[in-house]
Amino acid sequence: MKVAVLGAAGGIGQSLSLLLKTRLPPGFSLALYDIAPMIPGVAVDLGHIPTDVDVIGYAGSDPSPALVGADIVIIPAGVARKPGMDRSDLFKFNATVIQTLIERCAHCCPKAMIGIITNPVNSTVPIAAEVLMREGVYDPRKLFGVTSLDVIRAETFAARAMKARAGSLTVPVIGGHSGTTILPLFSQVVGQHFSLAELAALTSHVQEAGTEVVNAKAGSGSATLAMAQAALRFCLSLVHARQGEPGIIEYAYVEGGSPHARFFAQAVRLGPEGVEEVLDYGHISPEEQERLEKMLPTLRSEIALGVEFVRQQTLD
Ligand code: NAD
Repeated sequence: MKVAVLGAAGGIGQSLSLLLKTRLPPGFSLALYDIAPMIPGVAVDLGHIPTDVDVIGYAGSDPSPALVGADIVIIPAGVARKPGMDRSDLFKFNATVIQTLIERCAHCCPKAMIGIITNPVNSTVPIAAEVLMREGVYDPRKLFGVTSLDVIRAETFAARAMKARAGSLTVPVIGGHSGTTILPLFSQVVGQHFSLAELAALTSHVQEAGTEVVNAKAGSGSATLAMAQAALRFCLSLVHARQGEPGIIEYAYVEGGSPHARFFAQAVRLGPEGVEEVLDYGHISPEEQERLEKMLPTLRSEIALGVEFVRQQTLD
C-alpha cells in the first residue's frame, strides 16, 4: 500500500512523515512531495531509520510521481497562520494549492482516500469535492477534512480537568474546523460532572487552542507536532480500514449524513472504501444545541466560499 504526503517538507509534513515511517506496517511505501527542493533530502534522512517502509521524496512543480498508485493521500500543503490571522486569512493562497493538488489526485489516483489538513478546512474540503466532481471522480466516502486535532485536544483538556489518565477519555467533536464551528460535546464524556462555567471554558479552550499555539510560537508557525500526531492517528485508521479491519471509528469533516450542512464533522465508521456510515452524534445538552445553531451560518458560508471558488472558475 502507498501513502503520499503532499507538503511534506513543512512543519506538519516532516513530523507526520517521521511518524508514518516508524508506524506504517512493513511493506508500505511513503511518497513525499513538496515544492521545496529539500524534500528528497527529507526522504534520504528518513530512509536511515530501520523500518520496512520505503520513502521517496519528490520536489518540483508536479506531484504526479508521488501520487501514481497512492491508496491514501494526506495533504498539509500550503501556508499556516501567523499571530493576528484567523484560518480564513489563509483562503486566498491555500484555495489554489488545494485545487491544483486535487486536480493531480483526480488524474493520478482517482480512487485514493484523501485527507485534507490544509486550512481553512471548512472551505478547502468543499474545494476538493468540487474539483473531484468536475473531473468526474468524486466519491464522498473517500474525501475527509482532518479534524482529529480538535478531538485529541478535547480529550487532553477533559482528562486534565477530570484528573483522569491522559488518553483515557473519549470526547466527540462535531461541526467544522474553525473558531465556533468546532463543537466539542463535553456533556457526553462518561463520568463528567462539569459545571456550566467549566463546560464553557473547556469549549472555548478547544476552539481557541490553535490560536494559543500560533501566539505561543510568536510568528514562526502554527500547530505542527500535535497535528502530526492527530494526522497519524487518522491515517492509521484509514490504513486499518482499508485492510479490512472492522469497527474503525474516527471523527472527520465529510459530505453527507448531516441535516445541518453539506459538510459536517462527526463520527464515521470506516471501511475499505472509506466512509461506511456517518454516525449520529446522539443527545447533546441545551447549551451545546444553542452553540450548534449559532455557528451553523458561519459553517455554511465557509462551505459556500469553497464551492463558489471552483464553480466561478468553471463559469469564467
Ligand atoms: P508549513 O509552512 O510549515 O508547511 C507547508 C508546506 O507546504 C511547506 O513545506 C511548503 O513548501 C508546502 N507547499 C506550499 N505550497 C505547496 C504546493 N503547491 N504543493 C506542495 N507543497 C506546497 O505549514 P504547516 O505548519 O505544516 O501547516 C500546513 C497547513 O496545515 C496550514 O494550512 C495550516 O493552517 C494547516 N493546519 C491544519 C490543522 C488542522 O487541524 N486541520 C492544524 C494545524 C495546521
